[in-house]
Amino acid sequence: MNNRINHEEAKRPIGSFWKQIYTGLETLFRPIEWIGHHIILKPFSLFLEWIDPLSYKLEGTLLRRIMQVVIYPLFMTLTLIVGYKLVENGFTFRSFLGTILMFIILGFIFAPLERLMPFSRKWLGDEDTPTDIMLFFGGKFWGDYISKPFRLATVAVIVQEISPEIGQGIWPSQLPLVVQVFILLSIRDFFRYWYHRWMHESEFMWRWHAIHHSSERLYWFNGTRSHPLEGMVSGVLWAIPLAFVQAPVEVVFMTGLLSRTIGRFQHTNLDVILGPFDYIFSSPKNHRYHHSKKIEESNSNYGGDVIFWDILFGTFYLPKDQEPSDDIGIGDMPNYPKTFIGLMLAPFTYNSLKKEAAQLADASTAIAEGGEQSEGSNLPLMN
Ligand SMILES: [Zn+2]
Ligand SMILES: [Zn+2]
Repeated sequence: MNNRINHEEAKRPIGSFWKQIYTGLETLFRPIEWIGHHIILKPFSLFLEWIDPLSYKLEGTLLRRIMQVVIYPLFMTLTLIVGYKLVENGFTFRSFLGTILMFIILGFIFAPLERLMPFSRKWLGDEDTPTDIMLFFGGKFWGDYISKPFRLATVAVIVQEISPEIGQGIWPSQLPLVVQVFILLSIRDFFRYWYHRWMHESEFMWRWHAIHHSSERLYWFNGTRSHPLEGMVSGVLWAIPLAFVQAPVEVVFMTGLLSRTIGRFQHTNLDVILGPFDYIFSSPKNHRYHHSKKIEESNSNYGGDVIFWDILFGTFYLPKDQEPSDDIGIGDMPNYPKTFIGLMLAPFTYNSLKKEAAQLADASTAIAEGGEQSEGSNLPLMN
């Protein structure tokens, strides 16, 4: 049976006016995605392909094993050192430039490293990268010009209205800097944990978060794949408690940088071994289970930076002597959009997508059952 054709046919179940707008936008963006994939990213893909022979040679060697174990603690330590150096004279333009530079350098290191030591070779394709880049820049624009001012204003009003003295004096600034960073990381992640869990347990919230789970592969860049509206609400929710604890600026800055490195690893396709770190941080291994198609696996490991809130609240999932599957995505919605416009509108077309998915599932069952009884039966798909 040809499920793929059925999915294509079933993709736009919205009312005719909206359907036309949707189709128009899709048509507008399709060449951009095509150019992004076939022209702009092509030289990078060709460069990365050169690494493949080396990657096969490295398999099973001691050097690979050492790299698997060393990379994570090395990058985490380097982030803390560089972060400290960038902010030792307070937050300046240099700190700002350093953050951007670090993001670019990390990308340039991660992409070839993933090619050299991939967890899954199936995840090395780059068809979805142009969409992820657009989501990143879309989110960046939204974040800087809409979400950030909104967040700052909300936090300022709330903190001022409740009491500006509440948080004063509670921050343990006498502790070593690294300890302060871990405390802030954990406080922030406590709120992030509950927000993330809520997005999985409430269907209304899931319709926004599903975009993040629509990736069919994990790699260093797609941690940023999310709907801008999800980020706007979560940003406000996390910023309020942070505004109360009033941690020093260098701690806030270093925590932000460390969180970024954790995020790169969380979504990486790099085959690293973390050992005890799998029980402290949101790691590539435990986050791969979070992206599983099986709901009993994906409704777990909600931590964004640390994982011990999951351990404490009973949502930690990391079976021993087992590796997570590389078959990831939204298990019950094979018809979920893959394009930039499709993903931006997905929260609003969620009900139709869900209905379609149910019809596709019924059709598949009918084919499986009917195939044995009567050949070539006409299926009542998408009318
Ligand atoms: Zn999630
Ligand atoms: Zn994720």
